[in-house]
Amino acid sequence: MARLRDRVSETAETRGELVLYKLDRPTEIACARCAGRSTTRWIAVLAGDWTRLWCKACFLAMPAS
Ligand SMILES: [Zn+2]
Repeated sequence: MARLRDRVSETAETRGELVLYKLDRPTEIACARCAGRSTTRWIAVLAGDWTRLWCKACFLAMPAS
């Protein structure tokens, strides 16, 4: 998990303190907001804290800034 940041292929979008990233390959994550587990290339990071990842659905639920 600590190396996720090195596997970002693209910074997709920013909403407030959340940043949505696209990874180089699908990865299993547990979302810090909805607690859902998913295997995805999309992760959102809140305030630069890579220990608390959000899924893309939760990212999209936030208002666009
Ligand atoms: Zn979620």
